[in-house]
Amino acid sequence: MQITFDGELTVADMKKHIEHQFEMPTDATLLHITFDHSPQRAEDAPYANQVSLSLFDPTGFRGARHNNADQTIRLSIAEASPGYLSGELPAGQWTVVIDIHRIMPPDPLTYTIQVKISNDPITDEPLHFPKGTTASRGKGWYRGDLHGHTHHSDGRWDVADFVQYGRDYNLDFVTLTDHNTMSPLAEVDSLSSDDVLTMGGMELTTYYGHALALGTRQWHEWRTHQGKTMRDLAQDIIDSGALYVIAHPRSLGDPQCTGCRWEFDDMMPGIAHAVEVWNGLWDSYNQEGLELYYEWLNQGHKLVMTAGTDIHGQPPTGVKSAGFNIVLADDLTEADILNAIRQGKSYLSSGPDIKSIAFSDGKQAMMGDTLTTNAPVKLMLVWDGTDEGDNVRLISEGQIIQEQDATQSKRITATIDEPAKWYVAEIRAENGDLKAVTNPIWVE
Ligand SMILES: [Zn+2]
Ligand SMILES: [Zn+2]
Repeated sequence: MQITFDGELTVADMKKHIEHQFEMPTDATLLHITFDHSPQRAEDAPYANQVSLSLFDPTGFRGARHNNADQTIRLSIAEASPGYLSGELPAGQWTVVIDIHRIMPPDPLTYTIQVKISNDPITDEPLHFPKGTTASRGKGWYRGDLHGHTHHSDGRWDVADFVQYGRDYNLDFVTLTDHNTMSPLAEVDSLSSDDVLTMGGMELTTYYGHALALGTRQWHEWRTHQGKTMRDLAQDIIDSGALYVIAHPRSLGDPQCTGCRWEFDDMMPGIAHAVEVWNGLWDSYNQEGLELYYEWLNQGHKLVMTAGTDIHGQPPTGVKSAGFNIVLADDLTEADILNAIRQGKSYLSSGPDIKSIAFSDGKQAMMGDTLTTNAPVKLMLVWDGTDEGDNVRLISEGQIIQEQDATQSKRITATIDEPAKWYVAEIRAENGDLKAVTNPIWVE
């Protein structure tokens, strides 16, 4: 059985979701969909057109692959193309959606979707991934990545390669967050081992910004359409127990990186738990993201900051200067790591160790803690692992209150008579690049 959909897309269709419905018969065993569109890149256009498919069966999400290069879908009880979920093919109405991220003039673009359904018996065994385990290590500081991709979306490597990268970089945990799908998470869970904890999530890759849902195994609606706002989508994610992180908010946006810059007016930062202020290697977009985060704190939002490499394939040599999260967790489990991050018990670093402590009125607080006091606050910062030329900064409500060479001593203190609402500390390289930043200590 074969069904064909043809159509044209123009620049005016950008940021739409175009649906085509077809009927799955009762005895179907294999679904095969091909999607051709032309031109892939208009002549003289500076960027390729970016259109991809999502698939829904009568009960819900069956997959999506945010990858321009390959939009072929094969689905049965025993196989699934990357991005998709294997399993029975329930009878009834299925929907294939064209998600239109970018169309560059001159338009139009023509497309053909071919749906082939067969009822030949499948003899292969259903796909199954037994869950891997990571031995308990107890309370401690754990270092890891909260953002990465595989070929289940636009990554250039498979799930096993991604986990191996965590081992190669001596990370305690890695988190797989493919674009708009959770299809690789059963496999990544199966690869958790004593040397690296694997965690899961999904990157909501919308037309107006990206957000990470961390700790989830379910698919989350990412499309702000049919009356749903980003705030509604964020609420659904938070209600499910996942951590909601605004990703790379000041990244370059349309048309270079379509949808990469955060533009949701109702989520500035709204109900978000966290902001990814350090995405990949440190650059001016991260600097702007960090400044936006400080601004949000000054507006009274109590948010934490995270880092993520956003790794998509075998790292070039430079990735070692990307920022990682160093987290004080009760144990090396996904729940404990995310719980500690939610509380701000973490700092971001490409190398140096950094710890900040605040004292007042006989009380003591570390990053993530709230110090309740009217008395002067004494801040102490200790660090290690810095290089020649690095400097440390104590920052109060976004302003540097003390700064010094990081190689002279490994500790500074400052006493503040009029307590501010929050303090962080940064370590910067000689060229100004961030090397480490602590989550805030709060004062009330
Ligand atoms: Zn992103
Ligand atoms: Zn990403």
